[in-house]
Amino acid sequence: MLQISNLSKTYPNGVQALKDVNLNISNGMFGLLGPNGAGKSSLMRTIATLQDADSGSIMFNGIDVFAQKQELRKTLGYLPQEFGVYPKVSAEEMLHYIARLKGIHNDKERSELVKALLEQVNLYNHRTKYLGGYSGGMKQRFGIAQALIGNPKLIIVDEPTAGLDPAERLRFNNLLSEIGENIVVILSTHIVDDVSELCNDMAIIAAGRVVQRGNPEEMLNSYRGKIWSKRVAKEDVARYQEEKKLVLSKLSGGKMVVHIYSDDDPGDGFEQERATLEDIYFANIG
Ligand code: ADP
Repeated sequence: MLQISNLSKTYPNGVQALKDVNLNISNGMFGLLGPNGAGKSSLMRTIATLQDADSGSIMFNGIDVFAQKQELRKTLGYLPQEFGVYPKVSAEEMLHYIARLKGIHNDKERSELVKALLEQVNLYNHRTKYLGGYSGGMKQRFGIAQALIGNPKLIIVDEPTAGLDPAERLRFNNLLSEIGENIVVILSTHIVDDVSELCNDMAIIAAGRVVQRGNPEEMLNSYRGKIWSKRVAKEDVARYQEEKKLVLSKLSGGKMVVHIYSDDDPGDGFEQERATLEDIYFANIG
């Protein structure tokens, strides 16, 4: 169990990136969803011991993360947002290197581990290729392989699918979904579909604050029957924004569609819509 309590962080330039964040996260895939600039990376880097907070605490299975950074690192697998690779090293060589750094010195044990990881992330046939020649999706899958070395109990992946094409994204998400259920996996993302596809628990973060927290299905239930949609002219969107609780406006088949929140039938040509995580996301980030 990861317990984040009253975490706040203001950068020297005055930006308050985290505002009294409280989150308890159990084993399984947890989605941290929020727009760019919400504070996701600040939170991920803090949990990963790469930066300190101004106040608050983080506990993981009895480890006080701020006081026992080395202990936490032994049990952490981290795929950062900006994952640099040495371009002229093969995936196989690099995994051997990282495994040695993580203390796996027995040659046979390490070779078996590296082979198993390469197979797990579907890169075994590309193991001797230079990392510099890997596609974005291959690099991210390699990133997961390196994060899995050392049997981590906490895995953090920060915006892993940004920049991947749809097929690569699907492949990457399938891989993530296969990582053990008996560890904490935190997926930070601004892509709503990543969370709805993968996570059984989630939080929405906006401007440094947790604005929604829970199980996606329960959240959807609480919005059931309250989202209404209508096709409108583009120039009318501003009027709906003023007059109704506008959740989102988006293009669908080249036409503008607005979603509004209303407990009762708003009339005016609106039709009831099945609430999606996208509605909940936009309703909460404002
Ligand atoms: P996200 O990962 O959700 O995009 P970040 O945690 O990267 O959000 O950023 C949150 C806010 O903190 C943003 O306003 C960002 O510009 C600011 N920020 C992030 N890192 C720094 C830093 N090292 N110094 C100053 N401001 C920062």
